[in-house]
Amino acid sequence: MARYRGSVCRLCRRENLKLFLKGDRCYSDKCAFDRRGYPPGQHGQRRRGKISGYGIQLREKQKVKRMYGLSEKQFRLFFKRSDRQKGITGANLLVLLETRLDNVVYRLGFVNSRTQGRHFVRHSHFLVNGRKVNIPSYLIKVGDVITVREKSRNIKAISDALDAVVRRGIPQWLDLEKENLTGKVTAAPVRDDITMPIQEQLVVELYSK
Ligand code: SF4
Repeated sequence: MARYRGSVCRLCRRENLKLFLKGDRCYSDKCAFDRRGYPPGQHGQRRRGKISGYGIQLREKQKVKRMYGLSEKQFRLFFKRSDRQKGITGANLLVLLETRLDNVVYRLGFVNSRTQGRHFVRHSHFLVNGRKVNIPSYLIKVGDVITVREKSRNIKAISDALDAVVRRGIPQWLDLEKENLTGKVTAAPVRDDITMPIQEQLVVELYSK
């Protein structure tokens, strides 16, 4: 399925939750969700009708998928992989999504959204353990060191993002050395590290039908 190219603010309004897809703008008074917190479209301001069990599960899956910026195919592959792992499938899924390189550079504050993270990874602005990695879905492991490449250190978007990261904080499984533009994965993320309101069991129920 092709990547969504429309307005991302519509996605927040559709999911009735701020998904933080636009970096700085999400924290400003320009946030579309804060200004128009009703679903998009001509009939968006109508009273929300009763939603079926399937509808609730679908919305939850769409929410998580959109939060991490994945297509349906990519998201399903992550689900299958998490289902094969030991433990609780839903928690495994979220932990796997957290360890994607595009998410990790976002969490470390090198970029101000996962979309920007994906672009910057694609353009080879980061090294993992000293080696160039340009695959956004690359899964990082405990002990990995992520560095901004020498030639990319003067990019303003990176320094701006680092200045703004205090606003959302850095998760405890990551360690940032801001002066060296280096981040280290000190522990594996766990379900409790993901603070966004997600009911992952609904996603599991949807895909288990
Ligand atoms: Fe969502 Fe950010 Fe747009 Fe607000 S500004 S609606 S949080 S993407």
